[in-house]
Amino acid sequence: MKLDVNVLRYLSKDDFRVLTAVEMGMRNHEIVPSELVDRIAGLKHGGTYKVLKNLLKYKLLHHDRSKYDGFRLTYLGYDFLAIKTLVNRGVFTGVGRQIGVGKESDIFEVAQEDGTILAMKLHRLGRTSFRAVKSKRDYLRHRSSFSWLYLSRLAALKEFAFMKALQEHDFPVPKAIDCNRHCVIMSLVQGYPMVQVKQLQNPETVFEKIIAIVVRLAEHGLIHCDFNEFNIMIDDEENLTMIDFPQMVSVSHQNAQMYFDRDIECIFKFFRKRFNMSFQEERDETEVEVDENSRPSFYDIIKDANALDRELEASGFTKKEQNDLDKFIEGGLEKSKDSDEDEESDDEEQTSEPIEEENLNEMNSLQLQEAEQRSSGGAEAEAELDDNEK
Ligand code: ADP
Ligand code: MG
Repeated sequence: MKLDVNVLRYLSKDDFRVLTAVEMGMRNHEIVPSELVDRIAGLKHGGTYKVLKNLLKYKLLHHDRSKYDGFRLTYLGYDFLAIKTLVNRGVFTGVGRQIGVGKESDIFEVAQEDGTILAMKLHRLGRTSFRAVKSKRDYLRHRSSFSWLYLSRLAALKEFAFMKALQEHDFPVPKAIDCNRHCVIMSLVQGYPMVQVKQLQNPETVFEKIIAIVVRLAEHGLIHCDFNEFNIMIDDEENLTMIDFPQMVSVSHQNAQMYFDRDIECIFKFFRKRFNMSFQEERDETEVEVDENSRPSFYDIIKDANALDRELEASGFTKKEQNDLDKFIEGGLEKSKDSDEDEESDDEEQTSEPIEEENLNEMNSLQLQEAEQRSSGGAEAEAELDDNEK
């Protein structure tokens, strides 16, 4: 997906007001009826309709007439709302090049006024795992009422909360700077993902450091669940940084041991293949040896099983939000990590977002009334609209 931030410059106060109105309407509607957008935005003389056209032109909204005339945000529209809010807050002043395309995110450089470069991660939950998920009917039923917007926001919130907590416990992670909607701002990690590294000066040391991180995480009650060469960054001095936390689970999770063993196995496998390291059973004279008695055993680790809940609670991430996100993410966790069966182009937002027509909430008059009450009179709504007008 292209993030043409130049468009930001062409957007007026009214454009953002209407965009925010659509976002607010999406709390109750997958597709927000045009009249509701108009009512929330409250622009005079039919101004909303002109603005809607402009937003459509820039692909910030999607127009849907299948059930009634309405609109929803596209990823790009949601990106712009988050970016605008963060720029207003003074977190950064400009967006630069894209530095990463993750499975469920896009990463960009952003610049602060003094020239400091940070990393911006835009979460895109439901983008690549959509196809895999679609085949699981029971799973889909669970989350029919969750939108990609909501899930992506939760993923960002969780990632931000963990990054902060892990940093406080001296884990090597990027510095968490700020978070808004589905967007996390963090320090830019120097170095490269391990997957790009062909040679190491001290493979054994690096290997041991990595395994030690997995073990220490478990001692703190956590399992990364996607701990592999894509999510470990390394610099020229062979310092490590661990990234990518939305899928972390507690050691009290029912599949904890499996996830833990899988993280460990990924590291073993990578070092065996890439750096020709051998472990106990398969050692031969020509290979690099690792002094290692056995793999860390999940059961031998003394774990603080409530740490995760505590950290999340402290960050204001509710139990319900955690459950909603877990339901979605676990569908992905169950899959083999190496499979790329669900890679797909991210250009077509229509097909890649997890909302299916059949699952759209039927709009009824009661809902409409509710939404109107919430949106037209509420001080919260006004504040929100004003927030984006600065
Ligand atoms: P995903 O959840 O989509 O896998 P990641 O957080 O793993 O997203 O980020 C994807 C890629 O973006 C990483 O492999 C890395 O190359 C790059 N990246 C992510 N965060 C940073 C950062 N803070 N600094 C530098 N590069 C980063
Ligand atoms: Mg990743």
